[in-house]
Amino acid sequence: MLSINLKLRFFASFAGLAVVLVASIGWWLVDSASEQLRRQVGLTTQRIAEQMADKLERGLYERYRDVQVAASLIGRTELYQQDDVLRETIQRLQQTYSDYAWIGYADIEGRVVAATGGLLEGNRVDRQAWFQQGLQKPYISDVHDAQLLKQLLAPTSGQSLRFVDISAPVRDADSQRVVGVVAAHLNWRWVDELAESLTTGQWLLQPQDLVLVSAKNQVIGGPPLLIGKSLNTPSTDLASVTRSGYVIESWPDGRDYVVGYARHGSYRDYPGLPWVVLARQPVNEALAGVQQFRRDALIIGLLITFFITVLAWLNAGRISRPLLRLTAAARALQQQDSKDIEIPLQDDYPEVRDLSATLQHMVMRLQTKSEQLTQLNRELDHKVRLRTEELQQLNKALQNEIAERKLVQQERETLIEQLELQANTDPLTKLSNRRRFFQRAERVIKRAERNPVAVNLLTIDIDHFKAVNDTYGHAAGDAILAVFAQLLRELTRDIDIVARTGGEEFVLLLEHTDQAGAKILAERIHQRLSEQLFNEQGMTDVQVTVSIGIAQWQVGESLDHLLARSDKALYDAKQQGRDQTKTAT
Ligand code: GH3
Ligand code: MG
Ligand code: MG
Repeated sequence: MLSINLKLRFFASFAGLAVVLVASIGWWLVDSASEQLRRQVGLTTQRIAEQMADKLERGLYERYRDVQVAASLIGRTELYQQDDVLRETIQRLQQTYSDYAWIGYADIEGRVVAATGGLLEGNRVDRQAWFQQGLQKPYISDVHDAQLLKQLLAPTSGQSLRFVDISAPVRDADSQRVVGVVAAHLNWRWVDELAESLTTGQWLLQPQDLVLVSAKNQVIGGPPLLIGKSLNTPSTDLASVTRSGYVIESWPDGRDYVVGYARHGSYRDYPGLPWVVLARQPVNEALAGVQQFRRDALIIGLLITFFITVLAWLNAGRISRPLLRLTAAARALQQQDSKDIEIPLQDDYPEVRDLSATLQHMVMRLQTKSEQLTQLNRELDHKVRLRTEELQQLNKALQNEIAERKLVQQERETLIEQLELQANTDPLTKLSNRRRFFQRAERVIKRAERNPVAVNLLTIDIDHFKAVNDTYGHAAGDAILAVFAQLLRELTRDIDIVARTGGEEFVLLLEHTDQAGAKILAERIHQRLSEQLFNEQGMTDVQVTVSIGIAQWQVGESLDHLLARSDKALYDAKQQGRDQTKTAT
């Protein structure tokens, strides 16, 4: 993708540059050529218009002079008095110039006295402009259609006859009085012939391309279709400002023309006529050469562009090919990660040689670095494994230590429990000792304070125990104490508190038990002892009795007070003969 882009990019740059260059040069060439040609055609038409105007001027000036010379001659030699000679003279004048259609002499009254071919002789012309003006001074008329002479001169041809009238006064040689007027009708055909003579052998223009326009912008000469029409174009306007020039403009026929223009002017004492000569050339015909040139230029331009494009394509290939090979090698390196692949050394041109050498060097260095990294990685792996093993061992040791400590802790807790039990237990009877009794009894009293229930306390003392010890020994006494304790355990419920509070003194604290219940229990103890025979430690059927004091707990009463009342009841039982139960009031 990259390589195609690169080649295309090179190619597009070269080819695009070529196209732009060739196109702009071609455009400039064609443009300047058509400008040149337009200018050349314009100047040619201008020149022809100028020549036409000049010839018109000179021609009319000569005719104007002819008529003046004739008038002067007729006056000086008093020819006006000899009709025949006069006729012959003007006849000769007509022969000097073939475009004189008619020459005549009219007397002061306006009557034609003599004329070429005897035409119009005897006719009155006093209404004619040439006569009226000619009486005053030399006169030249604008072009006009034939009037009086129309039928006489061209009776057959349908062609319209047009004339320019030239006249001059005839003065008497002595008195200088005006005696008549000499006039010539100049055939307008003369102008057409003039146009023809000017355009013969001319590569650009035809006779009909020359147009003569009057002061009132009326076409008075040129192509028959235009004659008599009004023509209002920039060229006719421009002619009134500059004497001559050329312009490109549209005409009433809808076509564009290169038009050269020239104003008809005065010449010596000839006053001139306010005419404008136009020489026209259709633009498409005038610039036909340019069209051909444009076609040629296009073909040549296309050929040049094609060759440059082919060159650009070859060159783009030459530049991009080694880069392509380098890219392929680099891609192979990236994909296969093989140490065998090498960057090829390209020798196509200096820059690519430098690039390939640098790349080769870089790849080699990278490969070395990569190997070093792999080695380092391996070593690091090994170190990590070793360290992990060490840590695992340490962890195991730590866990062992924790387990051991837990064991020690458990042992210590067991020991503490045992010690506590020992501290709270009477070793001989395994009953709660006095200390333990107080802890548990306080709790019962507190509970009863919150939630009043019947609580009764029994204080028990073995009767005449000193005598037992004295008779059978201390060990025998201990045995009796142990058996009596077992007996109490059997007669009481689990929730009752049974404790040994002194040598042969015991207490029972009964929760949820009223006084009647306590009395029943006391009675049972008396009953059981009466059936119990002790034979341990050298004794033979020995019997003991107990005295019991009962006190019922009163709401708000302290444990000490309750004990004191129970002791008092016990004391009473001892006083009244022992082996009995007394209840505190
Ligand atoms: P009374 O009926 O008035 O209670 O007479 P008594 O002999 O039981 O009372 P006294 O208080 O005078 O004597 C108590 C005797 O209990 C004294 C002592 O020898 C004995 N004794 C106290 N503790 C133990 C003991 O742990 N083991 C043994 N074997 N005898 C004990
Ligand atoms: Mg006692
Ligand atoms: Mg006693």
